[in-house]
Amino acid sequence: MGVPTLDSLIAKGVRGKRVFVRADLNVPLKDGRITDDTRIRASLPTLQRLRKAGARLIVASHLGRPKGEAKPEFSLRPVAPRLAELLGCGVSFCDDCIGADARRKADELGDGDVLLLENLRFHEGETKNDPDFARALAQLADAFVLDAFGTAHRAHASTVGITEHVADVAAGELLESELAHLRVVREPERPLMVVLGGAKVSDKLAVLEALAPHADVLAIGGAMSYTFMAARGEGVGSSLMEPERIADAKRILDAAEASGRTLLIPTDHVVAQKIEDGAETRVVRAIPDGWMGVDIGPETAARYAEAIALARTFFWNGPMGVFEIDAFSKGTAAVASAAADASATTVVGGGDSLAAINQQGVGDRITHLSTGGGASLEYVQGLVLPGVAALER
Ligand code: ADP
Ligand code: MG
Repeated sequence: MGVPTLDSLIAKGVRGKRVFVRADLNVPLKDGRITDDTRIRASLPTLQRLRKAGARLIVASHLGRPKGEAKPEFSLRPVAPRLAELLGCGVSFCDDCIGADARRKADELGDGDVLLLENLRFHEGETKNDPDFARALAQLADAFVLDAFGTAHRAHASTVGITEHVADVAAGELLESELAHLRVVREPERPLMVVLGGAKVSDKLAVLEALAPHADVLAIGGAMSYTFMAARGEGVGSSLMEPERIADAKRILDAAEASGRTLLIPTDHVVAQKIEDGAETRVVRAIPDGWMGVDIGPETAARYAEAIALARTFFWNGPMGVFEIDAFSKGTAAVASAAADASATTVVGGGDSLAAINQQGVGDRITHLSTGGGASLEYVQGLVLPGVAALER
């Protein structure tokens, strides 16, 4: 039962075997240069262990959204030299992730050698989970390792389809560590405190609905707050607000009240007349007409920080305000430092939330920083990730 581990795959013996590793090497590129190699680094533990065990590695990933076409700006080629540098070994590259050339290059690998394949999404069969494309990928390998946590919530050919055609499968180190840490949010030591923020209720509706009855304390921040305030009949000025989500927000508020759980929404706000560096700001309880909420206020930040200090398990996704602008970033910074100071097990997910944590320089004081935004939200909701389910079959 459960997901087969890398340990169990290695114990069976991988020396001389071709192991296809679906990694997440979706790094940001600017003019063909890698601007942040965090994801390459995150994939190293799995690759190092397999190399040491003598496996022949075929590494595959997507990069961006080329939509089924070979577009040079989405090429994974620039990743090969950086991966080589970080692994401390040569990395060969194949211009196509399937076909005769890829098969020949895979067959020519020696024990511990590494071949990086071109962007999987240059073929439309990848995101369509096309069986022929999945079979073509599987032809390259004897075993399959899924380590791309950030894509594990998508049923693609390289995450799901391929598992039907390869004898041995396993979860990589990154995937396993993500699941272990996020499982703590699903099965928490209580009290569980959850902070959800970001721009839109509609982006986070499913996670709100799932975590509201699960968390002992749920605190809302970011632009989502104003839809919740509107649901309570409070004025929101010209804040970002989704009228078509007011009914959903009301249902979540009512359910929280009926269950006796605590749902916190901001009671004071930093407001501005425009979202702009240098804009005049005020701290208010009621948002005046013509002004918009751009951050939670200091009293709200203090209340949230107090609740975080009392938690045994803490999960955070989504900034408390427009943290990209310094004057609107204090609420987000306060939550980040409260998380860093907390005695709870702390888990943070989401691209912007991680950026906020790094901006505060507290990354090493958080128990787990999740690399997969969408996947982490789906997993903590209790959803089954298709890539993980495919490994279990
Ligand atoms: P994550 O990437 O961590 O999942 P989201 O992408 O959901 O977070 O939300 C982050 C975005 O929400 C940021 O760009 C931030 O500027 C925006 N945001 C937060 N609060 C507000 C607000 N009050 N008004 C407008 N935008 C906001
Ligand atoms: Mg984001």
